[in-house]
Amino acid sequence: MDAELIEECPLPTSADTFDKIDQVLRQLREIDAAVAERLGRRAVDSVGSAHKHAGEAHSIVSALRTIELGRTSMLLTNDGGAMAVAELNGIPWKHAGHLLAELACTDQPVEAAELFKCFTDVTRSFATIPKQRQPSNEAFFTCLMQSGECRLCD
Ligand SMILES: [Zn+2]
Repeated sequence: MDAELIEECPLPTSADTFDKIDQVLRQLREIDAAVAERLGRRAVDSVGSAHKHAGEAHSIVSALRTIELGRTSMLLTNDGGAMAVAELNGIPWKHAGHLLAELACTDQPVEAAELFKCFTDVTRSFATIPKQRQPSNEAFFTCLMQSGECRLCD
């Protein structure tokens, strides 16, 4: 953002924006409720849930608008619900592990073991990513260029 390579796209204050935020909040709440049901917990009350998701909904609607304007967007989130809603809306997303993995693809790459340890340390108590979305081993943090193809370097 400092290099002005990433632009901020402010949301217009319009009925359309509020409708979209409403819709995304509903999707986030539905995912919350589904997770709660799967875990046998009572669903969170809707006011609490809306408050909890306000930031995520804003980010998702901003990403949607950016894509609608023909530009590219990438949602950064460690929240399982936000990842699911992003997928539902065709928005590419990354979590903290993806960002760390980029350090393996630099001129002076960081060791995969070190990146995996760093990821595990950080997300144990903070920015925790849902189990099924977590990288399970060092391989995730290895540049794959040696084998000809790398999802980041390409
Ligand atoms: Zn790479």
